[in-house]
Amino acid sequence: MIINLSEIMSVKGNVKHIQAPIELKNFCMEGMEYPFANKSYVELTLSHVGERQVRIEGEAKISLLIPCNRCLEEVENEFELKFFKDLDFNLDSEDRIKELDETNYISGYNLDVDLLVYDEILIDFPMKVLCDVNCKGICRECGTNLNKSNCSCKEADPDPRMSRIRDIFNNF
Ligand SMILES: [Zn+2]
Ligand SMILES: [Zn+2]
Repeated sequence: MIINLSEIMSVKGNVKHIQAPIELKNFCMEGMEYPFANKSYVELTLSHVGERQVRIEGEAKISLLIPCNRCLEEVENEFELKFFKDLDFNLDSEDRIKELDETNYISGYNLDVDLLVYDEILIDFPMKVLCDVNCKGICRECGTNLNKSNCSCKEADPDPRMSRIRDIFNNF
């Protein structure tokens, strides 16, 4: 959803609440696509806080399906997004980019809610996801999910400490 901020910033003391839908279909990162299991509206509060200055406050609850690092089963991960941005349109866009870490969600006077949400998910995205701390992973020989059944390959080691060591190797 695109919200034009020029109306908010033109009236002193203006405050506007908007329930913005999240229109992203998936969360895409580094060539992977993570589907949403759940997404709420973004509860946005836009306020005029000074001459050509807008404050954006927002909250959203979403969950993404992310594969377990060991067995690749999808795990539902909840994100409680809460953000707070002060935008000063008196600065030119280059200075704004320096001040905030990311301003690609602002173009001209338009706020792109989906890009803002994307950035917030990116900040919270977990380094590693496990379906269970004791997940046994998949057999490297035959691909069997060892949480669901056993296979006859020798490689399987039931010791979870070994799984952890395998993870370390996988990370390299
Ligand atoms: Zn797993
Ligand atoms: Zn096997």
